[in-house]
Amino acid sequence: MKIGILGGGQLGRMLIQEALKYDDEFHTLDPNSDCSCAQISSFTQGNFNDFQSVVDFGKDKDVVSIEIEHVSAAALEELENHGIKVIPSSHIIKIIQQKIIQKEFYKENGIPSPDFQVIQSLKDVIKIDLPFVQKLNAGGYDGKGVQIIRTEDDVEKMWDEPSVLENLVDIEKELSIIIAKNEAGEIKTFPVTEMIADPKLNLLDFNICPAEISADVQAQIDKIAEQFTTAANSSGLFAIELFLDKNGKVWVNETAPRLHNSGHQTQEGNANSQFEQFYRVLKNLPLADTSVRQFSGMLNLVGEENFTGKAKYHGLENVLKLPNAYVHLYGKTETKPGRKMGHINVLANSREELLEQLTHIKSLVKVIAE
Ligand code: ADP
Repeated sequence: MKIGILGGGQLGRMLIQEALKYDDEFHTLDPNSDCSCAQISSFTQGNFNDFQSVVDFGKDKDVVSIEIEHVSAAALEELENHGIKVIPSSHIIKIIQQKIIQKEFYKENGIPSPDFQVIQSLKDVIKIDLPFVQKLNAGGYDGKGVQIIRTEDDVEKMWDEPSVLENLVDIEKELSIIIAKNEAGEIKTFPVTEMIADPKLNLLDFNICPAEISADVQAQIDKIAEQFTTAANSSGLFAIELFLDKNGKVWVNETAPRLHNSGHQTQEGNANSQFEQFYRVLKNLPLADTSVRQFSGMLNLVGEENFTGKAKYHGLENVLKLPNAYVHLYGKTETKPGRKMGHINVLANSREELLEQLTHIKSLVKVIAE
């Protein structure tokens, strides 16, 4: 089968890496000829945001999917209209691409997400209590396009662009659930993961799975997962990012209609990984068992501050000496501050041991430039 993926980053790379054990052709489209997928797939250099480039890329494929959501959804719709299978549907990609529409989708479907108001420009701000969170309607990624407005001084730095102004949640934990649905309608979720962020880079830092949550919190998340899958009405693999607040209530932050950083530890931590699962979704195969093998965690390897150039993984050999630590690099030659270059998965017999190991490994390894 000819599988086409828009985007050639690490998510696509790990999908292909997992799926090469089966017999399919993987094709990727990315503007950067040095991207993570270029060397391991049939690669087309082109812009996944450009209507014609996406239509040309997709028209001879059996199934077209994404590993980034900022793509031409209109082109995906055109492909659907010509009988090409698109997973997830262009419809749900369109909803998720724009924060305003995404928030309205949660509201319409009774999915709990922080209260919000919509502005097209700063002129529309009538009355809102501090603090709140401003989220740009389009183009946000990895914490860019999101800012917390706490004080009158912060109000000065608000963006004059279409945005969502959202209630600030008093966060106890950030959680994520990954859901897979195939065309046959089979649905499987991965165990809930805790995400612990680096406050400076605003990038995901550690994942811990399974999350330490009460039965009540688990039930709230199960309900959200069910509501989302029903409302989305599309096959695909989705990661719902959640906030657990200090009162024990779960809120949806946002959803990614694709493979997600919060599922990387499934590579060794679960009976099957999110990549195996997504492959099965693309081929409408029976979904894989997602049960946990051990406590698992993940640590992102991001480019160190002040280093730009050819990447060097300082201290990696010390990590390789450890049992239960698994290194995954993304094939990116150039590092820059905050760039996701790889990750390390860790298995442990307890949550305490896992946190200890993750912290230890973080101190061992740094991504610098030669
Ligand atoms: P991105 O998709 O760019 O990562 P997010 O919407 O996930 O952006 O926001 C980044 C971070 O900002 C979140 O992980 C969370 O820590 C914080 N944040 C976002 N929205 C809220 C909110 N309503 N209340 C409190 N913190 C928030």
